Amino acid sequence: MDWKIGASLLACLLCVSQVWPDTRTDPETALAMLQEQGRQFDPARVVEVTDSVFTAVGYHGATTSMIVGEDGVIIVDTLMGPTAAGNAFRALREYSDKPVKAIIYTHSHADHTGGASVFAEGDAPEIFATDLFGTVNTEIEDLQPVARKRGIRQFGRTLPPEDATNRGVAPARTFDRDRGRGFVPPTVRIPDSYRANIAGVDIEMYAGPGETDDALFVWLPDQKVLFAGDNFYQSFPNLYAIRGTVYRDVRMWAESLAHMATFEPEHLVPGHTLPISGPQAVQALLDYSAAIRSVYDQTVAGINEGKPPGVIAHEVRLPDDIGDRSYLVEFYGTVAHASRAIFAGLLGWFDGNPTSLNGLHPRAEARHVAQLAGGVEKLREKMLQALADEEFQWSMQLADHLTWLDEGHVDVARDTKIKALRALAAREYNAPNRNYYLTYARELESGALVEPWF
Ligand SMILES: [Zn+2]
Repeated sequence: MDWKIGASLLACLLCVSQVWPDTRTDPETALAMLQEQGRQFDPARVVEVTDSVFTAVGYHGATTSMIVGEDGVIIVDTLMGPTAAGNAFRALREYSDKPVKAIIYTHSHADHTGGASVFAEGDAPEIFATDLFGTVNTEIEDLQPVARKRGIRQFGRTLPPEDATNRGVAPARTFDRDRGRGFVPPTVRIPDSYRANIAGVDIEMYAGPGETDDALFVWLPDQKVLFAGDNFYQSFPNLYAIRGTVYRDVRMWAESLAHMATFEPEHLVPGHTLPISGPQAVQALLDYSAAIRSVYDQTVAGINEGKPPGVIAHEVRLPDDIGDRSYLVEFYGTVAHASRAIFAGLLGWFDGNPTSLNGLHPRAEARHVAQLAGGVEKLREKMLQALADEEFQWSMQLADHLTWLDEGHVDVARDTKIKALRALAAREYNAPNRNYYLTYARELESGALVEPWF
């Protein structure tokens, strides 16, 4: 199968490797990289992993797989809702029409559990999940209004075709209106590990906390196929999601991957993106584990040296010997965001510097910055100059100050921020960053979003 990186992507990797940890390059290259990554899930297709394991990719964001046994099939993950699951199942049914004997949820995220009814219909299969399934709070109910908005931005759900690329490990467009409607509760809860013979297939499941605490991975000893769920996909992992998530225990995540590698799989089926076969299957797990562990260790070292999160985030790098791996390019997660999440997850918001204990209100800070600039007019000039000089981040920061001052410059500040956001987006190959910038720019343009927030 086509796990190999294309020549153009390799060229891109070589040119961006010098600018870690930024996820920016020139606009043409950024777009080409995202398009190359998008070929992993567009168009939708079924990958023949072995002669009895089939993985449907691109029918929604995640993958769904069918393992064919003697008198039935086993399904691993079920996509977001019945519509996407139905499309994938029809494609998988080309390979076997035996009854569904079991369904396995690798974890509780909606994009893996919401289409189960399609596979369960008529056959009443057992449904497996870990004993933590459903007890782990990965979404915070109180925060639904803001979580929804930030989710829309991260995934670029409302972007028009000219702005849409993809979601890093998923297509730009997915059918979500029946989200969760096909969810069927698990019937078998597995503890740390579980072995069974289902439909004549020897199958093993192991708890493997990572992206979620309730994650498991599936091992087929005879075919040497490992289903990793969302603890592995072909991109640097989303150790932190900018839509807003509770802390993901990245140290456990690295350990779960190292555990998976001990099985020495010949085929690795990710929760998103294309499967990997051959010696690269084990190598990818080892590299992924090493990458996560290294980001964790470097962050902890920085913390213990007394550095604040903003400094550490600019310093952490992937180790040289794995930094050029195609499955570690930051299309979805980023090293810098991961580092900040680890800091906050371990120590909370306080960076250790007493200056931060009682920081000025942003409006008071803006007044001082304007004074330093020589007045509000000068601040406006500096902002416009920064934009003209392509100092996009700085121009946005000055635009925020100007917006807080509300002295007749709100419109030009908004206009500057929109231009800076669009310029930054064009240079981003990290899909969530790019989608967030573009969606936020559109919200400012339409008047749906008004800054500042008083
Ligand atoms: Zn997923």
